[in-house]
Amino acid sequence: MTSPPQILILGAGAAGTAAARVLAPRDDVRVTLLGPTGETPYSRMLIKGIAFGPASPEAIKLPLPDVPISSDSVVAVATTAREVELASGTRLSYDALVVATGSRARALPVDVVGGLTAATAGRVSALHTLDDARRIRELLTGQGRRARVAIYGGGIIAAEAASILRDEGHSVVLISRSAIPGIGAFGVHVAERMAAEHSSRGTIHVGRTVQRVDVTDAGVVTTLDTASQVVADLLLVALGTTPAAPAPWIDGLDVDDRLRADAPDVYAAGGVATHHDALGTWRIDHWQDASAQGAHAAEVALHDLGLGGDPGPYRPRSPFMAMVYGRTIAGVGLTGDGGRLVAGDEFVVHHERQGTVVGVTGIDAVGTVYRWGQRLHTVEDATDEITRLVHRHESATTQEASCPVSPH
Ligand SMILES: Cc1cc2nc3c(=O)[nH]c(=O)nc-3n(C[C@H](O)[C@H](O)[C@H](O)COP(=O)(O)OP(=O)(O)OC[C@H]3O[C@@H](n4cnc5c(N)ncnc54)[C@H](O)[C@@H]3O)c2cc1C
Repeated sequence: MTSPPQILILGAGAAGTAAARVLAPRDDVRVTLLGPTGETPYSRMLIKGIAFGPASPEAIKLPLPDVPISSDSVVAVATTAREVELASGTRLSYDALVVATGSRARALPVDVVGGLTAATAGRVSALHTLDDARRIRELLTGQGRRARVAIYGGGIIAAEAASILRDEGHSVVLISRSAIPGIGAFGVHVAERMAAEHSSRGTIHVGRTVQRVDVTDAGVVTTLDTASQVVADLLLVALGTTPAAPAPWIDGLDVDDRLRADAPDVYAAGGVATHHDALGTWRIDHWQDASAQGAHAAEVALHDLGLGGDPGPYRPRSPFMAMVYGRTIAGVGLTGDGGRLVAGDEFVVHHERQGTVVGVTGIDAVGTVYRWGQRLHTVEDATDEITRLVHRHESATTQEASCPVSPH
């Protein structure tokens, strides 16, 4: 009797554990989940609670599905041999491979003078790993006074961090490369509102880049392109994420609408995956969407192994939320482009592709935004539809009026 096909899942985060959860109850496949050497899988989004609050690493442990789990970092994948090489030297073969290794935080650009030295001194940090969170906590609590934090970035992590730190009485200076901080993450309408909230609460430098970082007795001194300087205890770098994967896909994997990569029987899901499909080229690095992608990739793998039906193309519908200055920013689906502010009592923005709503964001409008989740990608925007009907009626009336009456 031949043994059931082996499915390897690389990465025990949102996408990897969701894929494993789909496969765990089945007895027609063997499944192994691989995480980094020495790491207990944790929820990345909850590390905020460690950096800025009293949470313990125990509290952010990820509930794990009932499949064999190995803490042995994946070093490389040999796609022709269908083998995965682990840090311990072990090689595992696969019939299907789900890559769910997530992303890494963008570091300070290499041309920032002194950036590396300041990072080594622990004065420059991202907030992406448990170690980052512990380092930030130590710095915030170790001052014997409220801390001074410079934040470089304007996206969700930057906005949430600025909000939490200010609430706790720390002094925050926000430095944003973009003229409207967070425009890439929230879209222009939400970002403009957030920029106003930031400005009303403290110092903000917009459209500025960091040129130089020096660690001095006074703290970490960040020099901007205007030559003005910000002195702080910590420079938090929040410039977004890029996909992270083992060789040969160091910069992540491109996938089609079934989450298939361009190597046989390889799938990718979550922050590691860049999608190319009817929606264009896109990538989403949110917890619930990564989970949904992981589950979908597992279903496609089962289908390709002849063990399940075709789940169809992946379409992002999952929600995300951020609390910033007491306001709730909520989103579903594919957001981040300009979007269109919808007239009405609530602050709601529709993000569209060719007239179809593919994402919705809003401020303090969670119910309305989340209700869109299942209607995305299929329902034409109602306001567009009304506009179209009115136009059709008007042009029909105009045509009737201008059409010569046929002689009888
Ligand atoms: C501070 C912070 C706050 C956030 N808050 C929110 C939020 O409120 N809401 C939200 O929706 N999203 C939030 N996110 C984003 C969310 O955490 C990510 O989008 C989500 O974790 C992506 O899931 P993933 O499975 O792609 O990657 P991850 O969850 O990062 O999982 C990837 C896993 O792969 C492992 N791995 C990587 N390389 C290897 C290797 N070579 N071998 C073995 N294992 C490997 C990693 O250690 C990790 O366990 C936040 C992120 C951060 C950093």
